[in-house]
Amino acid sequence: MSIGGNVARRSELARTGGRNTISGAFVDGAEHRNAGDPLPVTNPADGQVFADVAGGTAADVDAAVQSARRAFAEWSSLAVSKRGEILGAAAHHVEQHLDELIPLLTREQGKTLRDSRIELTKAIDTLMHYVGLSKALRGTHTPNLDPGVEGYVLRRPLGVVGAIVPWNFPTTLLSNKLAPALVTGNTVVAKPAGTTPLTTLRFAELLHDGGLPAGVFNVVTGSGPTTGTALATHPDVRKIAFTGSTPVGEQIMALCARGIKRVTLELGGSDPMIICDDADLAAAASAASMGRYYNCGQACLAIKRVYVFESVADEVVEAITAKAKRLKVGRGDAEGSQMGPLHTAAQREEVAGQVDRTLAMGGRLAAGGGPPDDAGLAGGFFYLPTVVVDPPHDAPMATEEVFGPALPIWRVRDFDEAIERANASRFGLGSSVWTRDLRRARQAAERIEAGYTWINSRTKVYDELPFGGWKSSGYGKEHGEEAFDYYTDSKSVVVGS
Ligand code: NDP
Repeated sequence: MSIGGNVARRSELARTGGRNTISGAFVDGAEHRNAGDPLPVTNPADGQVFADVAGGTAADVDAAVQSARRAFAEWSSLAVSKRGEILGAAAHHVEQHLDELIPLLTREQGKTLRDSRIELTKAIDTLMHYVGLSKALRGTHTPNLDPGVEGYVLRRPLGVVGAIVPWNFPTTLLSNKLAPALVTGNTVVAKPAGTTPLTTLRFAELLHDGGLPAGVFNVVTGSGPTTGTALATHPDVRKIAFTGSTPVGEQIMALCARGIKRVTLELGGSDPMIICDDADLAAAASAASMGRYYNCGQACLAIKRVYVFESVADEVVEAITAKAKRLKVGRGDAEGSQMGPLHTAAQREEVAGQVDRTLAMGGRLAAGGGPPDDAGLAGGFFYLPTVVVDPPHDAPMATEEVFGPALPIWRVRDFDEAIERANASRFGLGSSVWTRDLRRARQAAERIEAGYTWINSRTKVYDELPFGGWKSSGYGKEHGEEAFDYYTDSKSVVVGS
């Protein structure tokens, strides 16, 4: 089937009710039919399978890697500003198809149409951010190392980069890797999550149609254990850029040890939020609600634990609970929905289990705690925005990552206890503090063990600033100019007289 035919059919998936079979890969600038078993793609809003995507075998992964290898020589030899120019034009072409991509992302992921628009716009912004940086890249030069001797540092792309991406933000988490990798001259093979392959495939086709040369960006869909492992162990892949859970990140790191592959790991989090007695409490409660329930709580940087000073705790709990109860839960494609379903039935089971096990140990359920009553939503994977107050500090909602719309809130005596509780986690991704006391705010930034601290600000990620977790939340950085360091090798050159 021609690419054009498949494009039309795939875009129709966003609207039509039929079940379609998709080839599963985009390799060397064309549709590629994977040889593996088909994986079903389900609409989380109604539990209905609407497409089957052929999974990638090791041979399919090899075809994609060889395509990326062939494209590398020419792509890496282009001037960096030329690569930026090509990527910019291709990103602009994707942008012109936003209205087609938005419902497709909602249909396979579950998020609201509004959130799909935010995600896709952000994915394009990230590509454009690195297009801008491509015009500003400068090197280093050190004169007079010894009399008549000078030095400079060369940066070279690594080669073929493998990008393994989860289902919660299929396109932004891809762009975070694709943009710095391509601008620095690498070529890429991506494996999206097995449950969200469609938007990524279409994204790749659109980039290609917009001028990205064949083979520079390839996609092979399929399951983690088969397709992901084949990519992570392929001898011609020089780096794996991984976003996902901490247990799988540990496996990827071990796989990358063979051949000393480069690796960046953006993993799970359990972000603490500290609300002090002098904070703007209304603003803090809004940020907590947004930070926890956005994308149905399925974000690495979601606010997953709140610690509030005793003296203002009742007011804060009441404000957050009221907001949770007001949120309109509904199908992502329904008018007025503010929170869609969880992504899979298994994901809902996991979150419900964590809430139930926590409540069995103690704490008060202030909101939610189960699926909505609405019979119209019964087929989907919905779960109400949930608030649990003062559960034990060793309960699952304190010690595990809760990847769904359930927020625990604890009262704390003072700032020191808040910091101690915030750091009592194996994760260290994001964190936030709300206070009007500048000294306290700066202390929080210094003392919290995490890669990001927001002060009186909602938990938004900026392309300008490096992002990456401490402790079990990851290794390496995405975003910012720092990302370039993770897609290049440097060489020191010394020039004598
Ligand atoms: P997983 O780790 O299960 O999956 C992530 C990706 O890895 C998917 O493409 C998956 O494929 C693949 N994969 C799974 N097993 C293997 C394997 N053995 N070898 C190679 N690849 C494999 O994560 P989730 O899908 O559960 O995603 C949610 C997690 O991602 C949460 O922990 C969240 O915090 C984290 N995350 C971190 C972010 C960050 O920037 N720090 C941002 C967003 C999410 P398949 O889909 O087929 O299983």
